[in-house]
Amino acid sequence: MNDDLITCPYCEAINKRDSRYCRNCGARIPTATVKEIAQILLSASLNLANGRFIEAERECKWIIEQDPFNADAHSLLGDIYERKGEIILAIEEYREAIRLAPGERFYRSRLEELGRRKNHKLPSLKKYLLYIFFIPALIFLMYRLLSLLLSQGHP
Ligand SMILES: [Zn+2]
Repeated sequence: MNDDLITCPYCEAINKRDSRYCRNCGARIPTATVKEIAQILLSASLNLANGRFIEAERECKWIIEQDPFNADAHSLLGDIYERKGEIILAIEEYREAIRLAPGERFYRSRLEELGRRKNHKLPSLKKYLLYIFFIPALIFLMYRLLSLLLSQGHP
């Protein structure tokens, strides 16, 4: 991937990296490359895994600002809200992720879990069960990010 070029996240046209607006569709294009965004996402998921919610949330929100159509960032932000116990916000982020990536069945099963969790508050004794749902989500995202970061080819 040429670092001087950037793909418009809205229409996938190739633009020069220093251009502020897409030459094809006119949308504001992110200043970070796809790889930079993947690296920040990976960092956010590691921060979440280590319980550093503030950093993880800040990184996710930065990505969404750069690339509002990034379904992975919305789902990871949903995971962060879930870990913070903010289930309603988590559901909103997963709804957004599904809107952006309707074919991703994993997001749908996560949304269903969150819906169940909203209706049945877990007793504190069972809170460790959250990890059973959370860990596959993290592995799933890390797998995708690592394959993106390790691929030298074109997207
Ligand atoms: Zn465009």
